[in-house]
Amino acid sequence: MERKKCDCVIIGSGIGGMCAAARLACSGYKAIVIERLPIIGGRYTQIEYKGYKVPTGAWMILYGENDPVYHTLVDVKAPEIDMVARSSVPQIYRLNGKDHHMKGRGALRDMISWASKDKEEADMMMSILKRALWWYEPPDTISFDDWLAQFTRNKTMHNLFQCLIAAWAGANSWELTAGQWFRILKGMTVGGKPFILKNGVKDIIDALEKVIKSSGGEIFTKTPARKIIIEDGAVRGVVAEREGERLEIEAKVVISNAGPKKTIELGGEDNFDRAYLREVREKVRAASGIDYMIVSDKPLLEAPNVLFTADTQRLECFVSERTADGKNIVRTASVPESTILYSPKKEYEIFLQDLKETFPDFERCGGRILIARNFYGDWPFYRTWPGDCLTTKTSVENLYNVGDGVIPEGWVGGSGAAESARVVVEDIQARMKLG
Ligand SMILES: Cc1cc2nc3c(=O)[nH]c(=O)nc-3n(C[C@H](O)[C@H](O)[C@H](O)COP(=O)(O)OP(=O)(O)OC[C@H]3O[C@@H](n4cnc5c(N)ncnc54)[C@H](O)[C@@H]3O)c2cc1C
Repeated sequence: MERKKCDCVIIGSGIGGMCAAARLACSGYKAIVIERLPIIGGRYTQIEYKGYKVPTGAWMILYGENDPVYHTLVDVKAPEIDMVARSSVPQIYRLNGKDHHMKGRGALRDMISWASKDKEEADMMMSILKRALWWYEPPDTISFDDWLAQFTRNKTMHNLFQCLIAAWAGANSWELTAGQWFRILKGMTVGGKPFILKNGVKDIIDALEKVIKSSGGEIFTKTPARKIIIEDGAVRGVVAEREGERLEIEAKVVISNAGPKKTIELGGEDNFDRAYLREVREKVRAASGIDYMIVSDKPLLEAPNVLFTADTQRLECFVSERTADGKNIVRTASVPESTILYSPKKEYEIFLQDLKETFPDFERCGGRILIARNFYGDWPFYRTWPGDCLTTKTSVENLYNVGDGVIPEGWVGGSGAAESARVVVEDIQARMKLG
């Protein structure tokens, strides 16, 4: 058996774990990251597949220079990364067979006016949206769709919001509560324009890895955590497996990036408060769906471009790209009618119909589906629905969660995972002098 000692063990090298480790390491704490897979980054990196870079999940910095991932890179003085703002990328909204081109500013008003029957409806919609955003946030007891139905039955308006909600939240407008959606929308209105990484998000993980290692931290891949050691209500370290051997790491703090349910499993249910267990059971439910990467000989959509379509059965957003080596790529994801129970086979059939309808020239352009992946269970779009905020602290002292299972209010995805890391590290620094 091998033994190690450090200030903080981080279980999992997703964006949340890596941001936490980089922040700790560059503040002088000894951090060790253990990752069960042979690669680091979790759902925030990419792999090579048939000559293409295929993301394991995320592929852009959602809130541009206001993004917690971007802030982390700046705060830890990470090596510079090649990225471009998506402000220059045209956005098209397809509603009732008509394409509307976004002009930049006043985005929400533009969308609302395209979907409205007349100016009176557009003014009414803007007024209720503003009130819900900046005055009285609707509660979590009503779905967004039901909330909207109080004011309008205009199908195009409902479709437009379904399209935005599916793209941002990975859930449906009839599943997400009105409160959850307005918290997300608020974040979108104050966030910056997304950044696209020239070489993909792996550059971010590589930069964080450099920071961790150059600050004395360690990262072990192929090293699954087997147990979180808890004594007298406080964490003491982690037992992992490395090259078939038991590795015991003594630590003052443990940060789990494996998701709140896995954290409980590793720590043993009996060690957690009942109220905490109940909260995790009730709040942690994955946002699931299917992601597609389409390639073609001739471009299906001028690139770069973002096409939101409210006309199809499922598809909400197509993003086109032309790679530096001249490849045409279109990415999209589809959210099933119920993100809790669905048939991937049926969803795929619907996707093929939607694809044909959106790109009638698909075959003539030499279009083919490079990869179709069902993101669910332990590898979902998001580990909890955005807007469902679970605390980063567990009921066990010095045992924290980071990642998209515990996203602070207003953020989504990898950005929210990075923000959870910032909150956790700030709490650690305030509570203890580890170094
Ligand atoms: C198709 C798709 C597109 C997306 N697009 C975007 C986007 O453009 N921008 C964005 O910000 N977000 C996006 N997201 C969401 C984003 O990918 C996730 O929210 C984010 O990556 C989650 O990070 P995390 O910190 O929760 O860690 P995870 O990615 O969940 O990583 C957790 C890590 O823990 C490891 N682990 C688990 N158990 C153990 C154990 N016992 N021992 C050791 N290691 C363990 C896992 O192997 C994994 O590497 C997208 C997601 C999907 C699926």
